[in-house]
Amino acid sequence: MAEHTSSHVRHPDDHVAHHFQSLFGAPPEGVWAAPGRINLIGEHTDYNDGLVLPLAIPQHTAVAIRRRSDDLLRLHSRQVGGPPVELRVTDLVPGSVGCWAKYPAAVVWALREDAHPVGGADLYVDSDVPAGAGLSSSAALECAVATACNDLHGLGLSRTELALAAQRAENEFVGVPCGVMDQMASMSCTPDAALLLDTRNLGYRHVPLALDGLRLLVIDTRVKHDLADGTYAKLRAGCERAAGLLGIPALRDLHPGGLATALDQLPAELRPLVRHVVTENARVEQAVALLNAGDPAGLGPILTAGHASLRDDYRVSCPETDLAADAAEAAGALGARMTGGGFGGSVIALVPEAAVDTVRDAVTTAFRHARHRAPRTFTATASAGARRCTRESASGAGGVLPG
Ligand code: ADP
Ligand code: MG
Repeated sequence: MAEHTSSHVRHPDDHVAHHFQSLFGAPPEGVWAAPGRINLIGEHTDYNDGLVLPLAIPQHTAVAIRRRSDDLLRLHSRQVGGPPVELRVTDLVPGSVGCWAKYPAAVVWALREDAHPVGGADLYVDSDVPAGAGLSSSAALECAVATACNDLHGLGLSRTELALAAQRAENEFVGVPCGVMDQMASMSCTPDAALLLDTRNLGYRHVPLALDGLRLLVIDTRVKHDLADGTYAKLRAGCERAAGLLGIPALRDLHPGGLATALDQLPAELRPLVRHVVTENARVEQAVALLNAGDPAGLGPILTAGHASLRDDYRVSCPETDLAADAAEAAGALGARMTGGGFGGSVIALVPEAAVDTVRDAVTTAFRHARHRAPRTFTATASAGARRCTRESASGAGGVLPG
């Protein structure tokens, strides 16, 4: 389990069924959970048909659900509080829901768009994935709901199909043009492994993550700069334009050997984007080779090079993520990089176990001197993807099943 420096150690499954029953007056039919993720390497490659290497973190979102006989959705989140949000599944159209409930509603919408018989439900959400921290709380919520719907309605969809439904939900209903990495990671990661995902064909492989005395320290900078959304769409459009100008289906098809020639053919503003995507795909392959060779320490320079590329070429870093990465390295991390879309969020640092406290303290001190909010940190172990937690429907006891 993650080790938190904050006092927040509550496990979200513990009382979900109990709270569900207090709120809705009957026990849920079950509790499902899906994790947040960090991405080891492969940033902004997932909408370029490229490679990513995420792992699920222990923090996850738990959802207790009971189907209803009508078309009403009643949704409550412990993180948001207040009375349940009430929506009619038959009224769901993109843009129709403004609040947090758009994420679970989006999944119901996406499944119904594919003609799956998903109707009304009461739904209670609890999570220890920090929201908006670049750890993919949105995909955790979507994937927990998608997995629950799949089981309860006997849809028989695969994990990949559920990830695609969750991505469609976020793209079309919520309106965030994200790639598929977050949903695939939340659905398909396994303990003690990273997920090597080829976003072109959604083929994946679990790469054992034996860190041998090293730890992955996650530093949540607790900042999220506003420019994120519009800029993401522009970056994505820039990559597509570059691929079009080069006459290739996606930037995935440009290999490092052809990079210099290709850059010469592109307008100046597109060159750094292309350089990032091409070198980042290569870094994923290098990272996998190092893990396969039993050399996790070799990942350090790759993380650092990835951060430099995001900072200098892709330009999605920000002062807080740069400071966290630099301070971690100065204090003994073997490498560090921002993880997630950028403009804030979290940084991961690869740190010898004995140096974890030193690095954590150094980053916290650097943030204090820079007058930034204190960061939150935890060490992440590679954890399980989406799963059913409980099976009882009558007792409402909410015990967590082993495995
Ligand atoms: P990230 O996925 O990196 O955490 P996003 O901006 O994509 O950041 O998603 C965060 C949003 O997802 C929150 O603002 C909220 O609307 C929704 N969300 C995530 N987890 C929960 C939760 N437990 N309860 C309610 N809403 C949540
Ligand atoms: Mg998200």
